[in-house]
Amino acid sequence: MLRLERVSKFYSGNGLVSTGFSKVDLEFDTGEFVAITGESGSGKSTLLNVISGLDSYEEGEMYIMDQPTSGFSREDLEEYRKKYIGSIFQTFNLINSYTVYQNVELVLLMSGYDKREIPDRVREIIDKVGLSEYEKTKASKLSGGQKQRVAIARALAKETPIIVADEPTGNLDSKSAAEIISLLHQLSQDKLIIIVTHNYDQVEPYVTRKITMHDGRVVEDKRIAVRAAQAAEEKAVKTAKADGLTFGSMARLGVRNTFNIPAKFLLLLTVFVFLCFAVMAQYASFMNMGEMNTGGYNNYFSDTSKNRILITKDDRSEFTDEDYARIESMSNVDRIVKNDLMLDLVANVTDDPENGDFYIVSKIEELEDFEGKLVKGRMPENDREAVLFFPEGGYAENVIDMAYGKEAMLTDQNTGSDLMKDKVKIVGYGLLDDRQTEAMEEGGYYLEAYLCINEEGMSDVRMAALERYCTQEIHFAGHILDGNSASGMMPIRASENVPEGEIYVSEDIAALAQGSAAGSELSIVNKSLYFEDRFTFEVGAVYNKDNLKQYLNLDDFEAVSGTLFISPKDYSRMFEKGNFQSSVIVSDDKITAQTAESIAEAGYETFVVNDGVVSYAEGFDVILNTFRTIMLAAVLIVLFFITYFITKLILKSRNVYFSTIRMLGATKENCSGLLKTELFTVFNIAFFICLGFFLLVKSGNINSEYLTQLASFLGAGDFVLLYIVLCLMSILLAARYARQLFKKTAMNAYKEEV
Ligand code: ADP
Ligand code: MG
Repeated sequence: MLRLERVSKFYSGNGLVSTGFSKVDLEFDTGEFVAITGESGSGKSTLLNVISGLDSYEEGEMYIMDQPTSGFSREDLEEYRKKYIGSIFQTFNLINSYTVYQNVELVLLMSGYDKREIPDRVREIIDKVGLSEYEKTKASKLSGGQKQRVAIARALAKETPIIVADEPTGNLDSKSAAEIISLLHQLSQDKLIIIVTHNYDQVEPYVTRKITMHDGRVVEDKRIAVRAAQAAEEKAVKTAKADGLTFGSMARLGVRNTFNIPAKFLLLLTVFVFLCFAVMAQYASFMNMGEMNTGGYNNYFSDTSKNRILITKDDRSEFTDEDYARIESMSNVDRIVKNDLMLDLVANVTDDPENGDFYIVSKIEELEDFEGKLVKGRMPENDREAVLFFPEGGYAENVIDMAYGKEAMLTDQNTGSDLMKDKVKIVGYGLLDDRQTEAMEEGGYYLEAYLCINEEGMSDVRMAALERYCTQEIHFAGHILDGNSASGMMPIRASENVPEGEIYVSEDIAALAQGSAAGSELSIVNKSLYFEDRFTFEVGAVYNKDNLKQYLNLDDFEAVSGTLFISPKDYSRMFEKGNFQSSVIVSDDKITAQTAESIAEAGYETFVVNDGVVSYAEGFDVILNTFRTIMLAAVLIVLFFITYFITKLILKSRNVYFSTIRMLGATKENCSGLLKTELFTVFNIAFFICLGFFLLVKSGNINSEYLTQLASFLGAGDFVLLYIVLCLMSILLAARYARQLFKKTAMNAYKEEV
């Protein structure tokens, strides 16, 4: 059945070539019980390993069933081992963390036996080696003799025609040794048994042939007896099943391996939790970085917060309380700012814009929010009075002595134009509490105080704010002129001296009509983002330096030249639109767009202010994003290698396992598959631990400002993406590790580990 013709095995290493054995000619048949003996180093083990297909040979030819084996590929050798060879080792080579049952089951799984036929087969063989009561005992808990019985059961389970045993009794006491030899003899009547031993006496009663080796050569080959079976059954050599590990079995084994050494499992889990957490946190903070990069400006709004949605009604009419109640009840709506034009106004409070004693950068707030918070003075009683509220220790507190009791002007910080017709007197001030101070700092621009005026004063400011939004087209005598009150181009002003329906223009504008200005028609188209109205006037008077006093009761012609004067009633019609526009402030700015959509569905026009922001970075956005992505990839690669090296250390204990199952016939793909299953299982547990953790943070069950902020960048889509990335990472990790493992032959890998 098995024939060796002048087979030699050389070892080369460190530039030296040594001989394992040389020019061995041997022929073995079914039914033989062969003992190979000889002193230590004579080449017995080497010969046996070549016969087992665990080691290659360099010279000669080995035939199995008359088929040459020297050209066998790795796969051919794996199949050869599965079909023909059952191995028993001096060191038992059991999987210590497996039970007796699982150890025997393993070889059957690996040879692709059907799941249903395995249990009976395993129990039968365990019974034969006398270990029935230890079926569920872990291999590590057995005595040496019992371990070797498991090894015999394992070698016999798949019914190979050849059993090889290298010093099977070397680690046993003489009584156990005798039992083992007898058991082997008894259970393997119709097989070829090759036992390597340096204790020939032990096997003498059973052997049919004795081969003695010396210095790598066969020096004696003596046939002693012929077993009964040998004579009878010469012809039919039955080979063992040699299918591969099925996918189901691989998955089951992989999962078993994940949990069977708890300490290793926990260590791996810790590493993977670390990996998942680090990847998630990195990902979130890179998203966060992206948010911070996209600063920008908008020509109309200075408050471009992401949580601000501008709303108007379809017909541009004023909002009613019902409108507000309806919008306020929608989800994600935090509050509504009714006087929302104030959000975009930053007012300078100063005694003199040219060279004043104080310039306090302020925002105008509702009075009632600060009721009862005064430190000094009193609340405003008319539209000529104002109060200031500021944080302790800031600029405003330093200059308040100069401002208190004084008259101050309110000017728009953007345009420098007046926000109120008249000066206001600072009649009181107060200090902000910590929460208010924080809110002020978070506002996004540099503020020193809040200014409060009464409702009447507020409507002046609102009008001034609205003017800022508007541009005008003046149609006069066939010309179209552009104007904008806020920028000082042809401003429109109200004057008690102008009758309703009339307009007073200065002489330079009147000149366009070439003398026939008075009595002619002038129309103004007043436009904003939200409305466009046309007003038609009759030119009532043309004013100049000399008649200014007479028509308008004003003195300084230089200061007003170019201004168009209309009646206060017409002025209000043009600019006082009431609360036609408000802002909704949402609680979660990640879903501002969705909230805007639902408000729009409820019948309002919406505009997410931040969408209109022109990024400061402009074209650089693309570069910045690419850079961020590269950074993220780099971090992921670093994390991958950190995890790889830690995993490698932890899995070192797995090396014995893998080299053992390779000797039992596992292929490279099997080992790699098992490893992938194992890491994939641990990874999934780790991922869902981290996912659960972030969900707890999101739902507010875990309180940490930092974590909550990170978690807010992780939505369902991000978790899916991260899951895929991490899955790939864990499979890559396993593949890389498996490749390392297979750089060595099964035998060498095993020798290194034991
Ligand atoms: P035995 O089992 O009879 O004690 P071995 O078969 O283990 O002897 O060894 C035979 C010869 O091969 C010895 O000289 C030994 O040093 C050499 N040898 C065995 N394994 C290796 C190896 N992996 N590398 C180099 N030399 C080896
Ligand atoms: Mg040996």
